[in-house]
Parts: sequence; C-alpha cells; structure tokens
Amino acid sequence: MGSFENLFRPVQIGKLFLENRIIMAAVGTNFCTAEGGVTNRLKNFFKARAAGKTGLIITEGAYVSQSGKECPHQLGIHKDELIPGLKELVDTVHQEGSKIFIQLNHAGRQTVSALTGLDILAPSPVPCKAIQEMPRALTKNEIVQLAAAFGRAARRAREAGFDGIELLAGHGHLINQFLSPDANKRQDEYGGSLENRMRFPLMVLSRIREAVGRDFPLSCRINAEEYVEGGFEQQECLTFVQRLVAEGLELLHVSGGTYESSPMMVQPLSLPQNFFAEKAWAFKKALNGSVPVAVAGRIKDPYEAERLIKEGKTDVVAMGRALLADPELPLKTAAGRIAEIRKCIGCNQGCMDRLLMQKDITCLGNPLCGREGEFEIKEATLRKKVLVVGGGPGGMEAARIAALRGHEVLLCERKNRLGGKMALAAVPPGKEEINDLKRFLVDQLQRLPVQVITDYNVDLNAVKEIAPDVVILATGSKPLLPSLPGIAQENVVQADDILSGDRVAGKKALVVGGGLVGCETACFIAEQGKEVYLLEMLEEIGADISLFYKILLFDKMQELGIKLHPVTTVMSVEGETVIAEHKGNKKEFKGMDTIVIAAGYEPDQKLLSQLTGNKYEVFSVGDCKEVRKMLEAVHEGFECGFQI
Ligand code: SF4
Repeated sequence: MGSFENLFRPVQIGKLFLENRIIMAAVGTNFCTAEGGVTNRLKNFFKARAAGKTGLIITEGAYVSQSGKECPHQLGIHKDELIPGLKELVDTVHQEGSKIFIQLNHAGRQTVSALTGLDILAPSPVPCKAIQEMPRALTKNEIVQLAAAFGRAARRAREAGFDGIELLAGHGHLINQFLSPDANKRQDEYGGSLENRMRFPLMVLSRIREAVGRDFPLSCRINAEEYVEGGFEQQECLTFVQRLVAEGLELLHVSGGTYESSPMMVQPLSLPQNFFAEKAWAFKKALNGSVPVAVAGRIKDPYEAERLIKEGKTDVVAMGRALLADPELPLKTAAGRIAEIRKCIGCNQGCMDRLLMQKDITCLGNPLCGREGEFEIKEATLRKKVLVVGGGPGGMEAARIAALRGHEVLLCERKNRLGGKMALAAVPPGKEEINDLKRFLVDQLQRLPVQVITDYNVDLNAVKEIAPDVVILATGSKPLLPSLPGIAQENVVQADDILSGDRVAGKKALVVGGGLVGCETACFIAEQGKEVYLLEMLEEIGADISLFYKILLFDKMQELGIKLHPVTTVMSVEGETVIAEHKGNKKEFKGMDTIVIAAGYEPDQKLLSQLTGNKYEVFSVGDCKEVRKMLEAVHEGFECGFQI
C-alpha cells in the first residue's frame, strides 16, 4: 500500500481545521420533506459518511427562497422553522467527529414553475435549453431581496450550528446565471461588463458576511468552465474568484458544467477521472496559496486523490458519488484497506438519473445508500444452507449479504468466470470501470466464507444433490432472437457473442436494435475500423440510455461514422443482404458480412420452472425475475440476502 500522508494531513479553512482533505461534495438527495425539512433518512445518510471519516460534509444545495427550489424533496433553509431540524442534522454529523457546511443555492431558471408554484426567475428572459420554461427577468428590487434571502439563510445556518457555508456559484444556477453572458442579457448595472455581472454574486457575499460575520468559514463552488457557447469563461472566472477572496472567501471549490452541458457536470464513466484537476490547478496557481482549493469531478481512487494533492494540483479533494458508493472510503483508505473500497463506476443509474426524474437517490453498487437506517447486518436467527445460482451482480450481492449474516453459502456460475452481464457491459469503449464493481464483489466473496464454483451448470439434479434450504436464482437473461426469415444464418450473431469475443464481426456489420447494447456494440465494432450500420425500429435511438451518457455516446457514434437508421424495421435476411422497411418503403442493406442482433433479452427461468413445486425456499433476483438494469439486480440481491 502506498502512503496517503497528503490526503490525511490536516487543512485549515478560515478558523476551521479539518482532520483530512477528503470532503463530501454537495449531492442532491430528495430525502427531505416536501417543505424542505430534515428527515431521519437524511440524518442517517450523512451519519454514515461522517462515521466513514469524511473530513467535511457539504450538504446538497439548500434553497434560500421558494422560487429557487429545484427538487420536490430538496433541503430548504428559506424559513426559520427549519432551524431545529438543521440543528439535529449538524449534531448527528458532529457526534461522528466530522464537520458540516450547508450549501446555499437558488436555482434561478434551472427549475420549473410546476414545482415552485411561482414565476421562474432569472437575470434575463432566456430559458435554460435543458428545461425550456421561459423565466421572468428579476426586477432590481427583487435582486436586492434575493441577496437578502441568502443573508437570512446564512444566519439560519450559523444558528443551526453549521461549521460553515458553501455558496453555489456554479452549475448554471442563479448566481452562475448572473455571471454568464449567455444567460445574462441585462442592459442595467447587473449585466454587460464582468464588473456588472459580478454585482449580484458579490452582493450575495456581502449579505452573507453581514449575517454571519467575518469569522464564519465560507466556501464557494464555481465553474472552471461552463461548456456552453458564450458562457462564463475561465479567464473571467479567475478575476471573479480573486474578488471573492478579497471579500473573505476561505475555500474555493472548483467544478464545472451546467444543466445545458450536463455530461460535464455529472461526468459519466466514459469521461476521464479527476475531470477538473488541471483546471483546479490553474485556479490554485492564480490564488497563490491565499486560500485552499478543492476540486470535484470523478475523483474516486485514493491513490489518485493523494497524487493530486502531492503534485499540488489541489489542496483538498471533493468526492460526491464516490462517497455514495462507499461512505467508508476515507476510513478504509486510512487503514490501508484499499481493495475493500466499493468504487463508484460513474454509471449515474442510482444517483443522477434518478435525480433527473425527481426521484430520491441511491447507488447502483451500494444498495444501502439512502437506506442506512433500514438495514443492519445482523446474524440470522436460523443458519441456512443457501445455494446461489448465477455469479452476476445480483447473485454475488445476494451471496455477500447472506454470508455476512452467517448463512452457509455456495455460489455456482455456469461460465468460467464471475460477473455475468457486468463483464460484458465493461467491454465497450470507455466502460472498463464497470469492472471495479465486479472486482469489489469478487474480493468480498473471497474474504467471506462463500464457496464459489465456476464452470458448473446447476440443474434440478444438482440442486437435489446439494440439498440447500434456500435457492437464490440469479440466472440472468438470454438474448432474444426475432423470428424473421433468414435469421438462423451463420453470419447472424448476438451482440453478447461479439462483446464476449466468442464471435468477431467482419468488415461490414449491421446491428439490429438501437438500445444501449446495440449502440455500444456498434461502437465496439466500429472502433476496430469496421463499417457499421445500426437499425432501430423506433424513432428514438438509445431511448433506454442515461441522458448524461447518451450525449457522449452519440458524439462517439458520429465520430466513428456509424450510420444510424431509426424507424427502420428488419423484415428478413438473405445471405449478406438485410431487407428492411422504413416508413412503408423497402430498403436493402447489401454486403453485410455480419448481422448483429441486439433486440433485448428475456429472463432465463429454466431452473425456476424446474424448482416450482419442490420443497425449497426459492427467490429470484435481477434479470431472472424480470429484465431490467444492473441496479435492480444488485438491489434485489441485497434485499434477498436480508430476507433469508
Ligand atoms: Fe456512482 Fe453509479 Fe453509484 Fe451513482 S449510482 S454513485 S454513478 S456507482
């Protein structure tokens, strides 16, 4: 194990000392009451991160006024009645020895009136392209009132006992909108020159300082870059940041992206780790040590985190999703238990995709995330012999929990390796990090008394021989083969066979099905320098793909020259010709030496049907129950482990 001396070197933010340099970046949760109040769920969520020895926790952006609310169950700090709940949250975190800041925010045009019940407010009547609701330009009087609302929120934060405040001036929210020439088209003293665009943000800072005094630690999260044409640029941001420091800022927190450039804001796994590290370095050099700099953006690996600080790229690392995936990341790092860290795989399935749908967050790999008060690993009252059939994510998670609860567990996998669909999902370009979850689960099974047998196909006779009390079926799913003339030809293959390496595509391939698997398989083949066509019967290609990833994947498909044909249904295959129909017209795709089917999956329930009516207690999890995403497989495996 390497040394983490820089990561665990204390750091000072104003008058505050942090024991280590890992802070939790603000992540929306949707765990609060409809009025913005703290719930036990939120307290338990942060308690786990504090117990995991996070140096400083920064809450999600709390709305300072009703017009700035962006999620139905977002944390609020817009009225005094919320102070007692906020105080309980602070006490919970302090009891675990960590520190906590509250992030103050107003969403501006990045919300909808259906949620706030009020006009959407912004510097100018320019809608956010990701939301498309026309905002109303703030009057000068309203601007002054909103700055005062930030001041009142800051006063509440201090009364509730927070260790400091973080002001959100990035990610396209109201303060960012004033700074951005793209969103701020005002002709008065709040628009135009940088000096004018900074007027409202600096006014907010003044109201905060008036409310909490000069000695209350203050951080500001800024965008190193918006990735929006005509947006707030890094050079202007450097000037802004220097003004903030002159006005008493004590921690600069560097991030980037807005709702209009969302993949840059919540970078999926196809973007590099430590995404903003180089940009943070530019700010650090400009500030010349006057205040510490923190950087967010896909920092998930403790070795990388240590390196960033050691090389002077940043003073502090901010982790959001990495701490959803494993709240004990700091604790395990300090103890040298690196292999035991459950790393975020950047999938966004449990967190950002759900937030986008206005749902509460969780984590694909960590089903306990957001349910910390609900489950506790306790010895089962009756020790059972458990047979898990299938070594994919659901099966491994079920085996892990069952073993932790003291059951005797045997896991059988018919292939010669563990991982199931997770292993295939990691094959397309930019997806390798999915293997981090596989490695974690395999490592956990090795540490636990779980007997694993691979290359073993379990049938009814095998079950009888093993004689378990409980059978957990995690047998996954089988690729669907549409019933079409010519589909049984030798040059027709399944996407899974291409990804697993069992089959290799020829020089010219046609992929049937434009869902996630089809698009990724097309990229996988095209990256080998082959010509690829992709046919999808629906109007929308990639309807099942996370928005944050989809934009990047489409860029990739375009870059690779993949020819996309939506609303095109395959009718038959004749040798190397695929005959299809497009809006009532016949289309022929000739010279296709490989036809790849990515038409979805059906549950593999063969063993389930054989076991029906037998004496065993049988559970099925994941795709074996119903074909869905990996999140459902892991979460059902987890819950099943607690049920037995
Ligand atoms: Fe990371 Fe995916 Fe978990 Fe979100 S759901 S924290 S992206 S592993």
